[in-house]
Amino acid sequence: LFDTAAIQQMDTAHYMHPFTDTKALGEQGARVMVRGEGIYVWDSQGKKVLDGMSGLWCVNVGYGRTSISEAVYRQMETLPFYNSFFNTTNLPAVQLATKLCEISPPQFKHVFFTGSGSEGNDTNLRMVRRYWDLLGYKERHTIISRHNAYHGSTVAGASLGGMSGMHEQGGLPIPGIVHIGQPNYLESGRGMTEQEFGIKAASWLEEKILEVGPEKVAAFIGEPVQGAGGVIIPPASYWPEIQRICDKYGVLLIADEVICGFGRLGKWFASELFGIKPDLITFAKGVTSGYVPLGGVLVGDRVADVLIEKGGDFNHGFTYSGHPVACAAALENIRIIEEEKLVERVANDTGPYLKQRFATLADHPLVGFADSCGFVAGLNLVRSKAAVVHDNVEFDPALAVGMICRGYMFNNGMIMRAVGDRMIIAPPLVMTRAQIDEMVALIRHCLDLTYADVKE
Ligand code: PLP
Repeated sequence: LFDTAAIQQMDTAHYMHPFTDTKALGEQGARVMVRGEGIYVWDSQGKKVLDGMSGLWCVNVGYGRTSISEAVYRQMETLPFYNSFFNTTNLPAVQLATKLCEISPPQFKHVFFTGSGSEGNDTNLRMVRRYWDLLGYKERHTIISRHNAYHGSTVAGASLGGMSGMHEQGGLPIPGIVHIGQPNYLESGRGMTEQEFGIKAASWLEEKILEVGPEKVAAFIGEPVQGAGGVIIPPASYWPEIQRICDKYGVLLIADEVICGFGRLGKWFASELFGIKPDLITFAKGVTSGYVPLGGVLVGDRVADVLIEKGGDFNHGFTYSGHPVACAAALENIRIIEEEKLVERVANDTGPYLKQRFATLADHPLVGFADSCGFVAGLNLVRSKAAVVHDNVEFDPALAVGMICRGYMFNNGMIMRAVGDRMIIAPPLVMTRAQIDEMVALIRHCLDLTYADVKE
């Protein structure tokens, strides 16, 4: 048994948590998570909760996979570390790079490994600028991203990201990074069909390219479905139009698939779902299901050919690039995804089932808009509903209704994340139909409890 109070005291005395108000946490005490199995985790008080967020969008194959821990153990016993700087390599890194090229779209024949998604996006920034430098376009360094995007917490990652709360801290973004609006139909699509809005939102990219000057724009970066921004699912018309605009101006396209990759949207990579052909794909999270940190960039032929043929040394890399233990975990994780056909299950079985079941929540008096894509889903809590979603009346943000709902969810045995008044989920891909029913029933129950608190 755990002495929760003592752990909490040490926690706030010594551990500065990411994205956390340490002082407020000190008053409240963190929940101490101690164990996981399947789609559930347990805290130090023995409370079992359904992990509707797969940790942080990453535990795709679920908790408690002994074959991953065994693969990690074996690799640690054999060769716990070796670097791949200069002229050395290691077997799991070579095997994983080969495997990733096999499961990704055909333009990808090279992989650059990092320790995280943020480092992957730093790598993207340096790669695209180097690409244009090598071609003699040294002015072509601007990267266009989107408001409310999340691309990580390093200086480049947070600059590429579009979260104002992150930009305020530390004087970001760094020069050469600009942002356009996100394809959020609910926020900006009034008076348009979703498909009309998709074209409109993509046109903001062309406007920005022309404003900056096409000869200065290196790349556009976007998450196929914006995750941390609140599961913003773009209209089907959006990404093909973005691709057309990038092609028109020769702008490189970077898909940040740190959340969307490895089956979360029912394809190995979501770019395939949205019909785009990115030049670079950032990956992390689901590549190891979070068991061991690993990230990287899939480097498409257009960029790889120039970097390899003309580039000489690429002065970039991390001690843990191609870490053998992380790569061994990834290989076993991918083997499980293949063996259990998790990508196909999300595409053809549990993904459509989740969509159908999640949509039933839209009749709740508190829910204004509910949608899902594969195994990510989100709904908006509203004060009152109207015939047209854009006319729904929102709550005063000071009421923090999302946080009230999140609290009820946890107390009733489920982790659901609140982004303002948008409640989001990204469950492990192993979730069954029966577990989807259990989850949706729990969400409805907690919506009822929240409604009882906030209705006027
Ligand atoms: N990109 C996206 C889309 C993400 O969601 C995240 C993390 O949530 C990152 C990048 C950063 O990845 P990491 O936290 O591994 O650095």
